[in-house]
Amino acid sequence: MSEWRMDVLTGRWVVIAAERGGRPFDFKVEREETRAGPCPLCPGYERETPPEIAAYRAPGTAPDTPGWRVRVVPNKFPAVRGCGCAVVAAYGVHRAMPGIGAHEMVIETPEHVRGLEDLDPEQAVDTLRMWQERCLALRHPSWVEYIQVFKNVGRAAGASLEHTHSQIMALPFVPREVAAELAAVRAPEGCRLCAVVRHELAEGSRVVVAGRHVVVFAPFASRFPFELWAVPLAHEGDFARANRAVLEEMASALRGALGRLARVLERPPYNLVLHTGPVNRAAGDFHWHLELLPRLTVPAGFEFGTGYYVNPLPPEAAARYLTDDNSR
Ligand SMILES: [Zn+2]
Ligand SMILES: [Zn+2]
Ligand SMILES: [Zn+2]
Repeated sequence: MSEWRMDVLTGRWVVIAAERGGRPFDFKVEREETRAGPCPLCPGYERETPPEIAAYRAPGTAPDTPGWRVRVVPNKFPAVRGCGCAVVAAYGVHRAMPGIGAHEMVIETPEHVRGLEDLDPEQAVDTLRMWQERCLALRHPSWVEYIQVFKNVGRAAGASLEHTHSQIMALPFVPREVAAELAAVRAPEGCRLCAVVRHELAEGSRVVVAGRHVVVFAPFASRFPFELWAVPLAHEGDFARANRAVLEEMASALRGALGRLARVLERPPYNLVLHTGPVNRAAGDFHWHLELLPRLTVPAGFEFGTGYYVNPLPPEAAARYLTDDNSR
């Protein structure tokens, strides 16, 4: 029996249509072989990227030479650029603005590996620390309203480079999705994401990782098979100010969840997106979290027409597959 479910953060509906699929086997995608490298993001090829903006590197090593653990460079083909002013011009009924913004790439490890799940624990924490550092550095221009951190892994998820990396964009707007979540976080009855976390921990059927500071669960209104959210238990608005303990646990929860996904689905393509408080707002105004979106189904006419989703795998089943120790 299918069921309409609502995401209480955004008001978005999904149809959980279990009879259309249901076992991990149905969702396995063609395996992409990882090439051994080297590639333009590998050490020794630093000249092939624009000059580095920031890096964690061994003492005494120079920028744009090997010796780094995490390296940040401008995106070679940026969608937006850092200068200009955020003035909206009218063209008759239309509105436009110069393509201002910042677009950076975080190269998460010198090793030529494919995803966050392949990083060792310190390397994963360093990646999240670098995200924090860049989120703080990028918020200064007055036009910056939001900083979007995201990650594409696998060709079907939009990755053009195989070597694991994430991207950070500073934007002159607050995205609609975040604005909807912001309203839910400030609901008169209290933060709805806090309420969701309490409900999921008490009920348990969708929980994949339950830690002291972080929970990973398959959301009730999952848009995609095996969608997972990683949420700090404490109500914190600003990812960039999350403390070391939370960051370490988030890094290990993500690696754990991605490792389970890789085992059950043979390394599916995925996107990982951070939702954090808009820039220049009180820190308590949001509840930051990461959304992990495996790309096993293709959004089509229904999704584009309505903004709603059809998901053939109930999140309870996804959580069961991911926590079943036989699948390890
Ligand atoms: Zn590489
Ligand atoms: Zn909250
Ligand atoms: Zn979100």
